[in-house]
Amino acid sequence: MSSYDVVIVGGGPGGYNAAIRAGQLGLKVACIEGRDTLGGTCLNVGCMPSKALLHASELYEAALGGELRNLGIEVEPKLNLTQMMKQKDESVAALTKGIEFLFRKNKVEWIKGWGRLNGPGKVTVSLSDGSQRELQAKDIVIATGSEPTPLPGVHIDNQRILDSTGALALPEVPKHLVVIGAGVIGLELGSVWRRLGSQVTVVEYLERICPGLDDETAKTLQRTLSKQGMSFKLGTKVTAATSGAKGVTLSLEPAAGGEAEQLQVDYVLVAIGRRPYTANLGLETVGLATDKRGMLDNQQHRSSVPGIWVIGDLTSGPMLAHKAEDEAIACIERIAGHAAEVNYGAIPAVIYTKPEVATVGQTEEQLKAMGRAYKVGKFPFSANSRAKINHETEGFVKVLADAHSDQILGVHIIGPSAGELIGEYCVALEFSASAEDIALICHPHPTRSEALRQAAMNLHGWAMQA
Ligand code: FAD
Ligand code: NAD
Repeated sequence: MSSYDVVIVGGGPGGYNAAIRAGQLGLKVACIEGRDTLGGTCLNVGCMPSKALLHASELYEAALGGELRNLGIEVEPKLNLTQMMKQKDESVAALTKGIEFLFRKNKVEWIKGWGRLNGPGKVTVSLSDGSQRELQAKDIVIATGSEPTPLPGVHIDNQRILDSTGALALPEVPKHLVVIGAGVIGLELGSVWRRLGSQVTVVEYLERICPGLDDETAKTLQRTLSKQGMSFKLGTKVTAATSGAKGVTLSLEPAAGGEAEQLQVDYVLVAIGRRPYTANLGLETVGLATDKRGMLDNQQHRSSVPGIWVIGDLTSGPMLAHKAEDEAIACIERIAGHAAEVNYGAIPAVIYTKPEVATVGQTEEQLKAMGRAYKVGKFPFSANSRAKINHETEGFVKVLADAHSDQILGVHIIGPSAGELIGEYCVALEFSASAEDIALICHPHPTRSEALRQAAMNLHGWAMQA
């Protein structure tokens, strides 16, 4: 039996970052990953391949849709889907190899196989050659991530009825793609295929898109995506889907009840959320149990069993790679006996549509529900010189601050490079900055970041450029 200070089960952003930090702190560490490559959902079938296709499809549409022509660049684009998928796969392969390099650099042992708890302090690994290996560790970190939530009555075959992994590797452009779920995956992957030529219909159970997102921002996003040609059926549920060689027959009906309708389409993407993945993990051998959502509870990353820690998609909080990474660092610091904390109030979220959406902190709806007095400062990108010159004027920056102390409580951006811009306000939130602080900080001209400052100025009634 091999002994370690820390054994980590799962090699995604939670697991691999925990392993690297443990190596850096001089702990003897092994990371068990059952996939052929490291990086988890994020690198293999999540963040990275989706962003590769979003980037490529955005450029294709710019060339096709007249955006480039408008700039005086005449091209006749032709889609080579095989090459688009190949460059995505090559980038993903390079990134997963990069984690292998980081493991070697930080003396992390990668144990290739599926891990299963086997009583306190013990993990059994089923190796790919069919043999088993027994490990012993002072601390065990579970970072086994999540999987797509299934939809009853809709069987995912990844031929015609797809989950996100299937939708990242289609061999052809669908004529008509129905996306079930107007959340992050649905809107990002729906955008990819719409840009490449599909008719895209998004079917959403609720009367709005992106539940949890600031209302005004969500409405603006829906309006913009609709203008781009994506259509939405809100307040609608899918009751059945039958897949055949050529396509799928979908049965829909109003969520509130009413007349059913049928849709004949060639592909369906099911994107109604993800659920924690704990299959065959041997939780019962240590007395751990999941809650009714399938999650493992944690108190500062500790499970209810001493010496077992849980991080990432598997546990509470947003299912985001950078949240898993933050928890990984804090968890390992605690294992090493250091003080560490994750500030859950300052975890940003980005939707990589065009325009992008980026948020951090509270929404107006949350502040209202809390009864907190707040002020709003807004600035439209149509008044930002850089956005104007680049013909990217859709959207706004919205800053919410405490009405008395002026402390920034939440920021919601929809617009060009929103995902990059939000970083400034993450820092502001971490440092408990006031809106006035941002309003008085010099920002480079001409950049979109000036809109961040102008929104903070607007909160006090002195935006100068709108
Ligand atoms: P995972 O990344 O799921 O990793 C868990 C790993 O554990 C897996 O590799 C799995 O094989 C392994 N494993 C499971 N059980 C065992 C076992 N018993 N033994 C050994 N190994 C095991 N987040 C963002 O922040 N930004 C984005 O842009 C973004 N885009 C996304 C796009 C898509 C299409 C999807 C599906 C997700 C996206 N996410 C994004 C979410 C992000 O991928 C997850 O939040 C993140 O990967 C969670 O990290 P994790 O380490 O908790 O789990
Ligand atoms: P989601 O939670 O973002 O959205 C799911 C949507 O499906 C919601 O709007 C929900 O109301 C709807 N829905 C639920 N049941 C339904 C039903 N029966 N019929 C119709 N609609 C239904 O989930 P997702 O888009 O699947 O993404 C999963 C996770 O992956 C998210 O938690 C997200 O954080 C993460 N992710 C993040 C990014 C990013 O950060 N850019 C990208 C992709 C995925």
